Amino acid sequence: MRGRGKQDTMSSTATATNSDLPKLSPIVDPFGRSVSYLRVSVTDRCDFRCVYCMAEDMTFLPKAEVLTLEELDRICSAFIGLGVSKLRLTGGEPLVRKGIMNLIRSLGRHLDSGALKELTLTTNGSQLERYATELYAAGVRRINVSIDTLDPHKFEAITRWGKLDKVLAGLKAAREAGLAVKINCVALKGVNDDEFDRLVAWCGDEGFDLTFIEVMPMGDIGGETRLDQYLPLSLVRSRLAERWTLNEIDYNTGGPARYVEVKETGRRIGFITPLTHNFCESCNRVRLTCTGTLFMCLGQEDAADLRTPVRMSDDDSLLIDRIHEAIGRKPKGHDFIIDRRSKSAPVPRHMSVTGG
Ligand code: SAM
Ligand code: SF4
Repeated sequence: MRGRGKQDTMSSTATATNSDLPKLSPIVDPFGRSVSYLRVSVTDRCDFRCVYCMAEDMTFLPKAEVLTLEELDRICSAFIGLGVSKLRLTGGEPLVRKGIMNLIRSLGRHLDSGALKELTLTTNGSQLERYATELYAAGVRRINVSIDTLDPHKFEAITRWGKLDKVLAGLKAAREAGLAVKINCVALKGVNDDEFDRLVAWCGDEGFDLTFIEVMPMGDIGGETRLDQYLPLSLVRSRLAERWTLNEIDYNTGGPARYVEVKETGRRIGFITPLTHNFCESCNRVRLTCTGTLFMCLGQEDAADLRTPVRMSDDDSLLIDRIHEAIGRKPKGHDFIIDRRSKSAPVPRHMSVTGG
């Protein structure tokens, strides 16, 4: 068994393996879609408690269930050997996982070999001031940072535990380190919908792209319901068009975002609309949780356990067989519907489990 009992640090031997990945046949699902993008939730824990993402009194996973950094490295490397060329680390908050830079540095070897084209992460920015330079040195070139508001009081109200000035300091550090930044903003009715013009202008000034995200019905979040928060992005877009010239552009990352370019700022705006738009036909991605569960679709429950084959054998052949078998079950499309009577979430897992 490799890596067991080493929860938070990586041994140098684990990081030295897999640098010359065997050439295996790339993974293509039954609908002819190549899987080239893996999103990995490296922890379900977080130093914020965003109202749409987590309940304040979240119960987190026991450590024994969580993959060690070596196990995460092994699974990511297996996917890279199978043709995954883009890797995004997310969470929970990826930068609060102890030893995370060891994993990022280790995965950087696949950038050096050319097998991996991009290593990136989605972060709440709270730890960026500390890590920006190291991230760049490890080969990260672009990051997504989530900021729903530029008002410090609202920021605290949305994140419960976050401080805007800390995140802004992190963004400054990211820019100084040379990291390109895309801002993620969840559109929340009655909360930040008076700020979108300001966010577009601010991103223009700072040189950031911006992506608006519709609230997705994932996980129980306590008192509020997503129906109260739900704001269709079609509305956001038409309101923005009153002030800005939004030019359609032919830019597609294979995911649920559709992009326009703002003529006045020269920056891109993406709209992620999983509830109102069908993006599944071009889906190129799968998601791994920090416990080693592989979800083939963000909106469906079917999943494969990759932790067992990793812990059963030091050899990757079981793991690779399990990955092939799982991709063979990747569904054609998702099932997001907010049940208007029960107002319950049809996908019971939290976004922090699959990482968005
Ligand atoms: N903690 C990091 C962060 O906030 O960027 C990474 C993980 S977070 C789960 C990834 C993205 O999902 C963030 O941009 C967050 O705003 C978004 N998100 C979380 N819960 C969501 C929900 N229920 N609907 C839509 N977006 C959500
Ligand atoms: Fe944490 Fe990100 Fe979820 Fe906010 S959205 S609670 S920062 S994981």
